[in-house]
Amino acid sequence: MESYATALLYATPFFIGLVLIEILYGRFVKDQKHNLMDTVSSLSSGLTNVVKDSLGLVLILISYPFLLEHLALIEVKATWLVWIVAFIALDFAGYWNHRLSHHINFFWNQHVIHHSSEEFNLACALRQPISNLLGYYALLLIPAALLGVPHKVIAVLAPIHLFAQFWYHTQHIGKMGFLEYVIVTPSQHRVHHAINKEYIDKNLGQIFCVWDRMFGTFQEELDEVPPQYGVLKPANTWNPIIINFQHLWRLIQDAWRTKNYWDKLRIWFMPTGWRPADVKEKYPISIIKNVYNFRKYQPEASSSLKAYSLFQLIITTFLMLFMFYNYAEIGFDGLLLFGAFIFVGIYGYTTLMDRKIYAVWIEVIRGVGGLTLIYFTNDWFGINSNFSMGSYVVALYFLITIFGGIYFTYFERSFVAPDLAS
Ligand SMILES: [Zn+2]
Ligand SMILES: [Zn+2]
Repeated sequence: MESYATALLYATPFFIGLVLIEILYGRFVKDQKHNLMDTVSSLSSGLTNVVKDSLGLVLILISYPFLLEHLALIEVKATWLVWIVAFIALDFAGYWNHRLSHHINFFWNQHVIHHSSEEFNLACALRQPISNLLGYYALLLIPAALLGVPHKVIAVLAPIHLFAQFWYHTQHIGKMGFLEYVIVTPSQHRVHHAINKEYIDKNLGQIFCVWDRMFGTFQEELDEVPPQYGVLKPANTWNPIIINFQHLWRLIQDAWRTKNYWDKLRIWFMPTGWRPADVKEKYPISIIKNVYNFRKYQPEASSSLKAYSLFQLIITTFLMLFMFYNYAEIGFDGLLLFGAFIFVGIYGYTTLMDRKIYAVWIEVIRGVGGLTLIYFTNDWFGINSNFSMGSYVVALYFLITIFGGIYFTYFERSFVAPDLAS
């Protein structure tokens, strides 16, 4: 995991840099595709994902080395041909995993975060899950295991394969000529993120679009059908942690409430959105009917709240980079505690962005918690050996967090709360 943390240490500034370039470009051509609060939410989601993944918090049901040991028909060395075969095998597995995520209720929960933005831009790419708690992915790599692709090759290629899906989340690149027949392009992926009936659940490929063409899920972007982005059951929150478990929570409620025992069992494996008939009638959930006319989630936000949210995001990013930088020194228990601070922090400031009153409690408690830890350890996870006075700066941040939570909850509420507005 330490090598993954190192990769993220370099990848994070790179991705953030590209998001900034897209924002500046949008400004330059007067066609801005970013909305500040949405982008803060997307980037925060990315932070939760990398922190969770770097800690390896997943229950591995079956691992690739295990399959390799039992299935490999041939033993091959890591030659250039093996790297290519492995990349194709990974992409094939990615296609089917993506298809599974779109079509099965239980699996949709781990993917809905990626589609939850109602914008479409590079930051959306960073909306990645923390609710993928079961490690079953190796099963989809059986073709690679049969061919004896070494584990090392898969381990190196997997993050590269994921990172290579970043660039095509943009509205600033049009169709790309012959490449449209080979790889997934921005145009094809706009279709994938759209909820128009012509587009929904199409273009599930990750790097190569040939799988979609082979298995009948390809759809070209049409001039007369402008993509509308989001999910049919809108998330209605900036909080990425809530978005990650919203669908699962609905499934649990439905399974609990339905009188039909067969429905209690099958709801998890039914097509995405399927609900037992009795709960559907008794507890209706509204879904978007007209994709061209729905209100995007946009609770009131003053310029100062926007600036404050950005400040919280930036500090959280720096804290996380420090965590990756000092990964080995902090030790696993320390990392869990550090990760918890980052999670509670993101939960807190995005709840403040949602203008929920209870955000103040989260912000005050985490602020006091941070200050207490600094007081008793006289440090912040060893930051003082990297930057003298580092822990004072972190302490100042926690003080600002306490005051920010109180200020934006009690002193800046001159508007109608979003829950009451509609
Ligand atoms: Zn998808
Ligand atoms: Zn995407």
